[in-house]
Amino acid sequence: MKRWKVRASILLILLICTAMLTGCGSTNSAKLAKDKVNVITTFYPIYEFAKEIGGEDVNVINLLPAGVEPHDWTPRSQDIVNTSNAQLFLYNGAGLEGWVPGFLKGLNRDTKVKAIEVSQGIQLIESDHDEREENGGLSLNDNHHIDPHTWVSPKSAIVMAEHIRDSLIETDPTHQSGYEERYAAIQKKLTDLDQKFSSQLSAVPHHKVVVSHQAFGYLCRDYGLEQHAIMGLSPDAEPRAKDLVQLTNLVKQEGIHYIFFEELVSDRLAKTLASETGAKVIVLNPVEGLTKQQEQNGDNYFTLMEKNLQNLILALQ
Ligand SMILES: [Zn+2]
Repeated sequence: MKRWKVRASILLILLICTAMLTGCGSTNSAKLAKDKVNVITTFYPIYEFAKEIGGEDVNVINLLPAGVEPHDWTPRSQDIVNTSNAQLFLYNGAGLEGWVPGFLKGLNRDTKVKAIEVSQGIQLIESDHDEREENGGLSLNDNHHIDPHTWVSPKSAIVMAEHIRDSLIETDPTHQSGYEERYAAIQKKLTDLDQKFSSQLSAVPHHKVVVSHQAFGYLCRDYGLEQHAIMGLSPDAEPRAKDLVQLTNLVKQEGIHYIFFEELVSDRLAKTLASETGAKVIVLNPVEGLTKQQEQNGDNYFTLMEKNLQNLILALQ
């Protein structure tokens, strides 16, 4: 127990340092376009969907640069200027971007930008992982009782794409048919992905997944899996020694062979848990952003989700 505590707090410090390093030095030099609908998105999956559905009729600017984890990001002044002069601002909502209400209030008074919460209409998950007050400890995560990770399930991603299509048509009705055509293409890809997840995951013998941060609630709900997270809804939410001990026992008792980690968050806790239990580590990507390498490889929501499916099938055999 004690060993875990010491180790957990050292790891937590390392984690925070990593988060601070990746958060620094990020610039956004994207420019608004005069002859297109300017769409500002908060993070990667919305950016990708807006680009696909918007096609040549839009200019999409993503606020989060590559390699940055969205939970601890905040906007800077250039972002306020760009958004004030844009036509559409698309954000996830469901508590992901806690800075949005203040940001919208800070926009220029004469702004015409329309703000759309693309997760609306998805049945949200309330977190059961967060009763940390009993501990007397203040969790960084106390205001995050709704699970914001809607996009990690292809089923919810379809709803999000629908909202993006509707908001583009409303903003720019002249190009309605283009938006509808391109939406139909992405909707088909998402539906195929959804069916693949459903059929392939219903065939695996095991259903418990141990992940680093609690980002897979919607994926697990929609495809019959059970999530056990080392950290909370946000990767900077502190794991308790008690939770780590429970997870170690779970992994041992259930004979879980793989612990999932993700690229934008330190893998140290996942690796510690793995070495403690004899399990291996493998990637499960919450698609919160691309690493620079993934960006160069041309990875996107679909390639990363396909890889997630392969890794889930491997781990749950
Ligand atoms: Zn997250």
